[in-house]
Amino acid sequence: MDRKIFLNEKDMPKQWYNIQADLPNPLPPPLNPATGQPITPDMLAPVFPMNLIEQEVSRERWIDIPEEVLEKYLIWRPTPLYRAYSLEKYLKTPARIYFKNEGVSPPGSHKPNTAIAQAYYNKVFGIKRMATETGAGQWGSALAFACNQFGLECKVYMVRVSYNQKPYRRILMETWGAKCVPSPSPDTKAGRKFLEQNPEHPGSLGISISEAIEDAVTSKDTRYSLGSVLNHVLLHQTIIGLEAQKQLAMIGEYPDIVVGCAGGGSNFSGLFLPFVRDKIHGKKIKIVACEPASCPTLTKGHYVYDFGDTAETTPLLPMYSLGHGFVPAPIHAGGLRYHGMAPIVSRLLMDGLIEARAYTQLETFAAGITFAGTEGFIPAPETNHAIQCVIEEAKKAKEEGKEKVILMNWSGHGIIDLAAYDAYISGKLEDYVLPDEEIQRLLKDLEKFPKPK
Ligand SMILES: *Cc1c(COP(=O)(O)O)cnc(C)c1O
Repeated sequence: MDRKIFLNEKDMPKQWYNIQADLPNPLPPPLNPATGQPITPDMLAPVFPMNLIEQEVSRERWIDIPEEVLEKYLIWRPTPLYRAYSLEKYLKTPARIYFKNEGVSPPGSHKPNTAIAQAYYNKVFGIKRMATETGAGQWGSALAFACNQFGLECKVYMVRVSYNQKPYRRILMETWGAKCVPSPSPDTKAGRKFLEQNPEHPGSLGISISEAIEDAVTSKDTRYSLGSVLNHVLLHQTIIGLEAQKQLAMIGEYPDIVVGCAGGGSNFSGLFLPFVRDKIHGKKIKIVACEPASCPTLTKGHYVYDFGDTAETTPLLPMYSLGHGFVPAPIHAGGLRYHGMAPIVSRLLMDGLIEARAYTQLETFAAGITFAGTEGFIPAPETNHAIQCVIEEAKKAKEEGKEKVILMNWSGHGIIDLAAYDAYISGKLEDYVLPDEEIQRLLKDLEKFPKPK
């Protein structure tokens, strides 16, 4: 049997799958925090182009991927599906383990699946420039790459600590022609306010979001872009699972277990949404989202209406959340730090169609080192959470003597985030589990909002 299953370019899916057509319970609408009423599409028009807003609310099951987007996808897609023979052998498991390698894209993760689509829709809408935020730089570099492909300007507000500590993704962005500034920056009103308080302000994702949104709504021909969480982002990512379905069918396989790591939920959704459709129609599949014990959104958070950002500038989204006041522990190196979770993922967890597990960072890095030592590729720290779950499930299959088929999304490589591995290897990382009292405190603020139904 082959180690890699390749899909021909001509067999790459030509449509994205929209789960909103098949959700057993529809998504509760986003709310205007000032009125508690559902927001209308035109309220989002200063922030996103209308063609993407239409996708955000669409109930159409299949959405055609535009020709120009397909052309750009061909730079790295279809991505190979790997059989993890060496990992199986090392674990002495009867399970068959497959992983979809999304690390082969130019920026090294799944993120350009939506960055390319978003840059395209902005361009055809007449937008000339895009603004966004980035933490460690994966999203910023994906959008820089996509804007460069479509001839759009790109401005990235990068959380200052990461800007200083992790120069390589900034260099990627600049190589692709984007302007990347440390946030808080003097370029926006929001940024100047934080700089007045502290000229050396380390920044946060929440502050960077506020800066990027302010830039978008106050600059000519500019819109904002988000790399995860929203429905249209998850839609664009479904090419991963649609390809995987074709690749598995080529070798007569179908998964018993589908696994992904979840920060905002986009790479996990990209893989599992086409499979959850089968589950809704009666297939027996276990679908598992993996997250850090230090940011346990799905396993310990509550299903509430919450802001998407710390600065309370976004509409209220119905999602599992730890509260928008959540600040990741400084010792946490493994990514997946967002306080909330995509409304679609949250809804499916509520409905019992998927499950979630949390892992501590030492066990996830150990899993990543095992993977690097067997399959060779060094995974992104985020991806390690999914690998730890796969190892757990493969060991269980061994104990039970069952030939389970496990499918994982290998969301990206870790070559530009080796500092996290360095911290692990030199013994500087510690486990941290977010205390229950802290979660109670963070969620207290949200009691004033209605509960999503
Ligand atoms: C951004 C990122 C994630 C987390 O984001 P999701 O939206 O949850 O997918 C996971 N893995 C990699 C490699 C990433 O770059």
